[in-house]
Amino acid sequence: MCNHKEVQQNPSHFEETEGVATHCDLGWNDYQELIRGMRFFDPHIHMTSRTTDDYQAMADAGIVALIEPAFWLGQPRTGLSTFKDYYSSLVGWERFRSSQFGIKHYCTIGLNSREANNEPLAEQVMEILPLFLYKEGVVGVGEIGFDDQTAAEEKYYRAQLELAKSARLPVQVHTPHRDKKQGTERSMAIALEHGLDPSWVIIDHNNEETVKSVLDQGFWAAFTIYPFTKMGNERMVKVVEQYGPERIMVNSAADWGISDPLAIPKTAALMKMNQISDEAIRLVTYQNAIEAFGLSGQIDTADFENGVEVDQNQKYNGNTILRGGQQPRTAKDSLVIR
Ligand SMILES: [Zn+2]
Repeated sequence: MCNHKEVQQNPSHFEETEGVATHCDLGWNDYQELIRGMRFFDPHIHMTSRTTDDYQAMADAGIVALIEPAFWLGQPRTGLSTFKDYYSSLVGWERFRSSQFGIKHYCTIGLNSREANNEPLAEQVMEILPLFLYKEGVVGVGEIGFDDQTAAEEKYYRAQLELAKSARLPVQVHTPHRDKKQGTERSMAIALEHGLDPSWVIIDHNNEETVKSVLDQGFWAAFTIYPFTKMGNERMVKVVEQYGPERIMVNSAADWGISDPLAIPKTAALMKMNQISDEAIRLVTYQNAIEAFGLSGQIDTADFENGVEVDQNQKYNGNTILRGGQQPRTAKDSLVIR
């Protein structure tokens, strides 16, 4: 939200506020220029909840690859089969849908912390996780960790850390909204207790309070640019100014809530406006995520660094994204819809 007094008094762009230029008046056309030619990797976004317009806008903004973590759907699942179908869609239909917009799709598979609290169901989910963890394009166990910090959450967090170890996969750790600092410390301590190498663990949803300890202990620090609740991107600029780009990565975590699938390109533009170097921007919006999740052995940058070939006539199990004889989309900006 735009509430910078300076900007209201003077509507020109690039007004300085405590060292961070504001972007209140900037629209898509303005920031698109700043990041032209840059490539982005969003290591946390829930595309199942997003539309084809989002995919198109992301591709247009330079997002070439993404990771979709398995998570909570907004209401509790009532049986094992819906978990199965969801995991199958992450390695199947959603990956295909993404490919139709030229974006390489990876995922992480896990039992989310909220649903770990339904123990009878959680037990069954644990049994099917290995069926999915070893599939192609699965780059980690995630997102797992704490929500309410209950005993059941801890039990399944620990069990999934063991799964990650035996599958030799990185871990994507969701940290809680409430008691974040304590929950983050606890997540890291348990991971170390299970003998995980911190360079294989991505601690997600950091803020200014947690970042120092996460980096000091050798973990990756991911930041979610999510309106109103997690991080704003002006704050993100300051974090990178203060800590540098090493082991830091930015994501959108866009999902079914009010969120922004263009959070990464927008943040890159804001960093550019604030004189953060192109190399630092590349590390936090692209390369660091590839290094961390690439430990899975599942990421081949040749698959996306020069673009993904798009053919919207392609089919997945006999189905295309084109409904009832639609033609592949070519002119999204046209007023006339045929
Ligand atoms: Zn998420």
